Amino acid sequence: MYLLLLVSLLGSVISVPLSIEDGATKNVNYEHYLLPGESYPTLYDVRLFLDPNVSESFNGDVSIRIIPVMNTNEIVIHAMEMQINSIIVTSDSNPQQNIFQNFSLATDDTHFLKISTSTPLIAAQPYTVQISYIGQYADNMFGIYLSTYEEPGVGTERLITSQLQPTFARRAFPCYDEPSYKAVFRTTIYAPPEYPVVRSNMPERTDLLKPDVEGFRKFEFQDTLVMSSYLVAYLVSKFEYVTNEQSPIYNIPFRVYSRPGTQNTSSFALDFGQRNMIALENYTEFAYAFPKMDKAAVPDFAAGAMENWGLVIYREIALLVQDGITTTSTKQNIGRIICHENTHMWFGNEVSPLTWTYTWLNEGFANFFENFATDLVLPEWRMMDQFVLLLQNVFQNDAVLSVNPMTHPVYTPSQIIGTFNAVAYQKSGSVIRMMQHFLTPEVFRKGLVIYLRNNSRRAVAPQELYTALQQALDESSHSIPYPISVILDRWTNQGGFPVLNVRRSAPSAESLFISQERFLTNRELSSTDRWHVPINLVLSTNADFSDTSPQAWVPPSYPAIAIDIPGLSNAEWYIINKQQTGYYRVNYDEENWQALAKVLNASHQTIHLLNRAQIVDDAFNLARNGRLNYVHAFEISRYLVAETDYIPWASANSALSYLEVVLSGSEAYDLFQTYMLELSNPLYESLGFEAQSTDEHVTAYHRNIILNINCRFGNENCVNRSQELLEEFRNNPSQRLDPDIQTTVFCSGLRGGDVDNFNFLWNQYLASTDSSEQSILLNALGCTSNAERRDFYLNQVIDDDSPVREQDKHTVVVSVINASPENMEVALDFVIEHFAEIQTRVQGLTGTTNILNAFARRLTTSGHSTKIDTFYNRHQSILSAGEQAGIAAIRENIQASIAWSDQHYDTGHTFGRPRSIVTDVKIRPCLGKGRYSNRAPKADRLDKGLSDNSSVPFR
Ligand SMILES: [Zn+2]
Repeated sequence: MYLLLLVSLLGSVISVPLSIEDGATKNVNYEHYLLPGESYPTLYDVRLFLDPNVSESFNGDVSIRIIPVMNTNEIVIHAMEMQINSIIVTSDSNPQQNIFQNFSLATDDTHFLKISTSTPLIAAQPYTVQISYIGQYADNMFGIYLSTYEEPGVGTERLITSQLQPTFARRAFPCYDEPSYKAVFRTTIYAPPEYPVVRSNMPERTDLLKPDVEGFRKFEFQDTLVMSSYLVAYLVSKFEYVTNEQSPIYNIPFRVYSRPGTQNTSSFALDFGQRNMIALENYTEFAYAFPKMDKAAVPDFAAGAMENWGLVIYREIALLVQDGITTTSTKQNIGRIICHENTHMWFGNEVSPLTWTYTWLNEGFANFFENFATDLVLPEWRMMDQFVLLLQNVFQNDAVLSVNPMTHPVYTPSQIIGTFNAVAYQKSGSVIRMMQHFLTPEVFRKGLVIYLRNNSRRAVAPQELYTALQQALDESSHSIPYPISVILDRWTNQGGFPVLNVRRSAPSAESLFISQERFLTNRELSSTDRWHVPINLVLSTNADFSDTSPQAWVPPSYPAIAIDIPGLSNAEWYIINKQQTGYYRVNYDEENWQALAKVLNASHQTIHLLNRAQIVDDAFNLARNGRLNYVHAFEISRYLVAETDYIPWASANSALSYLEVVLSGSEAYDLFQTYMLELSNPLYESLGFEAQSTDEHVTAYHRNIILNINCRFGNENCVNRSQELLEEFRNNPSQRLDPDIQTTVFCSGLRGGDVDNFNFLWNQYLASTDSSEQSILLNALGCTSNAERRDFYLNQVIDDDSPVREQDKHTVVVSVINASPENMEVALDFVIEHFAEIQTRVQGLTGTTNILNAFARRLTTSGHSTKIDTFYNRHQSILSAGEQAGIAAIRENIQASIAWSDQHYDTGHTFGRPRSIVTDVKIRPCLGKGRYSNRAPKADRLDKGLSDNSSVPFR
């Protein structure tokens, strides 16, 4: 599954350990959520009557071939929200005798359907369980559900589709709904004739088995390969498609289904999707196993996309590219999401996790490959350079004590859905990237080839992965000092990540002292967790950053170690963690930080661009954490005035955003703004508002960062140009602005509180039928500073008649939160007041957690802490596992920020005076000699906005 987690922007999406998760259910024995394992399925024969014209329920029946593993009188499977009409249980040895006795269907979240039999089932003998039932269409897009869209000239059209991961196959048909219970699925769908496009995982079969039913058209599909229940999918629609069948790049029929009239937006998906499948097949040396690949774009979808084997379903904005409307960042995300789902055909579908405790085995690899294998097809996108930004971003999530480890026992549906979080995705992807480098890329690849070959069609625990990687390592000439399982056990079973503290043992010495500790945003908390940390190092005397294999390891067993570095005494500076392939931060001795600042300001290209990004990100986060004087961080950041690459700038932009939050409202805020304008001025002049033919792919992102800084912090020229562009667009809406700068320009036009601008853009939203364009507008509209319009906008979330789709409603709140400190406060009060209503109206998987995570990076004061207490007391009883975790992360981050303020502000001043920033760090002297004088008069600057939505890929 691809989650549209806004992690690039936002804070933690985590779940807390079970022990503190839910006071009300603390005594529940979670093991009771697992199927007892007394029998297993081999074949499901499912018939569904899916009529989009009927809104409430559907008829279904399923025949399950099962084999008991012991003698038993009971069959326990899953079924959710269905009316069971009849059950028949027969044995192969006596198919005439129905041994069904009675059943019970749980009303709690175990969703157990317990079927007892009149005579015991005999171990190893095959039985058939036939169940006829009435299912409910899901009202939250998890299960089988109805969706609608507007068809020009026709009106509202309907369709039926499904999202069954992780625990919603049981809502479609009774089944053993855990990923390890793999079986063959035979599907028949009966649909009204006016819905001619009906798809499932497999192609239609020619040897028809099922009877026709009057009033329905019958679609019988071939048997699937052995697979998990969560990978089943359905589509009943009037969709149309484009196909590779006339001119295949890839040798498997590959189709992209979407609303009629949108087929011209499918060509990128069709072309890239095929090339990417070829790249993945070549890499894994393992052929895609299904006879077809459908990609379908549906208007409403809970996740970004879902890897159903043979029928991958996407949210429209995650698949369709419209030239001139789709932003560079959305297009990149589409490539990334297609690659993510393609990757799951191997990591997830061929080899599945034994339980959702190991969700990272699916999502970590999908996250890694969505970058790595997109890079194989489109190297000009620089995905593996951009990976460092994802790693740095997830550090923010992973720096709280309450964060869950990668391997995280989960049992209830709420816990299971909570495990699809930034740890399972971005952190696991980052740890996997580290593994690729410490094993070396070819050993890593060979290990994965072995892993897939040995475990296909099976469900595994991480040990199977380690065994395969170890085999590849043992067969290679590369070696590491610990067994892979020993190394990975700590990285996967402990939350968080280390910071290395590195010192020269003496100025002229040839050795370094290195110690490690867990990096926590709130330093009042502590942990004894330690890791096996692979390190490599560059000396100034030989600035070669290319070899990323480990030169040494920092073991968990000692508080500190000394490592001999021949030639160290001749080096002016040294850098640990080449290209930031290791998942950790590095703190140096002061002399080295000074030397790094010096070389960056003198000749930054001496240092690899990914390490430039690392140094900036580490320096500001270490300073925030009280481990490094801000003097050094600012001294380093001064070099950005000469930096032209996007990656270090993106690191700086997010690393400095914390200061923007905590300095807001203080005297130092003006200095900070001026400093940012100063740093970005050369790029503002060179990048401007206009895309150039010489731009590289990431320049669109870079331009956005620079324009955001300039328009937000009051570069008069930037603000005026934005106003002009918006006015031109208002006068002539058919003349579109470059989509990449739209959010910045629109936001700029809304910050002043102009009602006409808001109404114009809101009407543009109402008139738009393109999900990409809608997304730009939703992200911008929260920037309004007009109180009445802002209330109107926030109320879209809880207004049942709102035109904003359920899947997009959280964007409304997040857009307001990220717009400005003032808007954030309004949004906070709104969410506290209306959370119960919001929760039922934003889709459940990422909606509320995205909102809470947006707050996690913006709430900093004791006043916020009080409000969060109010929030928690009021809504405690309805919070999900993921929401509880979001609150825990917010609280840790607020505590850390209060400690930061205590350290950096004079307490005698009402608004706080950032003492060490102003007097110790001396931002002002960093500014140079007033080269920058382009700011608007202060009274006109209503622009304390923090919104940077457009510069960050929509996730
Ligand atoms: Zn996924």
